[in-house]
Amino acid sequence: MNLLRLFGKKTFPRGIHLEEHKAETNAKPTRRLPFAPEIIVPLAQHVGKPAKAIVFKGQLVTRGELIAIADGFMSVPIHAPVTGTIKEIGLAKTAQGGKQAAIIITTSLSSGQQLLDSDIQFDYLQMSREELIQAVQNTGIVGLGGAAFPTHVKMQTPADCSIHTVLVNGCECEPFLTTDHRLMLERIEHLLQGIRISMKCVDAPKAIIGIEDNKMDVLHAIEPHLPDDNSIRIKAIATKYPQGAQKMLAYSLLGIEIPSGSRSSDAGLAIFNVATLAKIGALLPKGHGLIERTITVTGDSLENPGNYLAPIGTPLRYILDHAGFKGKEAGVILGGPMMGIPVRSLDVPITKGTGGVLVLDERATRRDDISPCIKCSSCLQACPINLNPSELGLLAAKRQYDVMEEKYHLNDCFECGCCSYVCPSNIPLVQYFRIAKTLNRERHLQNG
Ligand code: SF4
Ligand code: SF4
Repeated sequence: MNLLRLFGKKTFPRGIHLEEHKAETNAKPTRRLPFAPEIIVPLAQHVGKPAKAIVFKGQLVTRGELIAIADGFMSVPIHAPVTGTIKEIGLAKTAQGGKQAAIIITTSLSSGQQLLDSDIQFDYLQMSREELIQAVQNTGIVGLGGAAFPTHVKMQTPADCSIHTVLVNGCECEPFLTTDHRLMLERIEHLLQGIRISMKCVDAPKAIIGIEDNKMDVLHAIEPHLPDDNSIRIKAIATKYPQGAQKMLAYSLLGIEIPSGSRSSDAGLAIFNVATLAKIGALLPKGHGLIERTITVTGDSLENPGNYLAPIGTPLRYILDHAGFKGKEAGVILGGPMMGIPVRSLDVPITKGTGGVLVLDERATRRDDISPCIKCSSCLQACPINLNPSELGLLAAKRQYDVMEEKYHLNDCFECGCCSYVCPSNIPLVQYFRIAKTLNRERHLQNG
């Protein structure tokens, strides 16, 4: 008998078990959405400097054409998600209620939406590491698991680090979301190609795809395609939240602890999301840019939940109309229920980092009354990186944000939300921590 089955799959300490809600969409093949009449393309869809627009009002652009260039190394270019006319380069609403610079394109509905012809064919095996990293930047790809960190920057591993393993994150541990699950079933060749490219970029001899054991169909689908030399393997680990976080993944797959203040590269690891690598595998060899992505559209009040391939910049209202949305916009979240962002308006676009659009009914979004901390320690038992959320919460209430950072490792908190989820007093701990981090950042900026 398989020993893993006997003793249970590998996992990390603490964390929480959540209702999955994945059955609504994980068996449905990905469908392409029609092109919306208007596409909103923000210039800052990634961590780092916004891209610089190189188009003008009234200009005709073809799907796949470069419309904004990277502003330095910590930036990525943007390609036209549709064929159409530049309506304006101005300000557009953000999900959080602010405004940001964006290129707005009126889609040419009479166009066949053919991709811009590219005569580039990259043989990545013949390219140097530097050429490959430049080619990754040219695709405009950022972390598609939600982080939106420029992937080429992540691939530029520090000179003092030697990478022994690429970890490929296929956990998709947030409830409701199933885009990675579908992608691993539907885009195996692209994924393996992207993994090989990433291994070459970081000079790693091996890669491990980590999936949660609620996706064993993925393991059975991928295993026959893996190389005989064992350089790429796939492993199932226990289904638990937040299994897909970098530190948790490294510990569950390899037993490697990434200490506070260390980078994954210090531990010899380069960690990428499956969607990111599958896009690199699909786009880089053809010299194409990132113009569309798959999103899970699911939750309450939807007639047609599923996974949809949509042009980046498609407005949420258009997506939800196609999914048969009958609810109120108050309960719409970009991303999953644990780390997603509640949206203030449906007239905002999906961006490169959007993995899902989740609609929760009023019951799920209702805020219960907050009570004082009863020192039950549930939050300590849940925190996957062993912080003390109870103490951090008390300090936040006293506005001692500096103490939170200096003595209680506030900056290690990656806002997974486990502590808030288990708190019987409904204390919105993770929101407190977000505010504290923002205020600390502002204070540091003021102090130079
Ligand atoms: S949100 Fe932060 S403090 Fe709370 S459980 Fe997650 S990592 Fe720990
Ligand atoms: S879970 Fe809530 S009530 Fe319990 S110790 Fe943590 S903050 Fe206090």
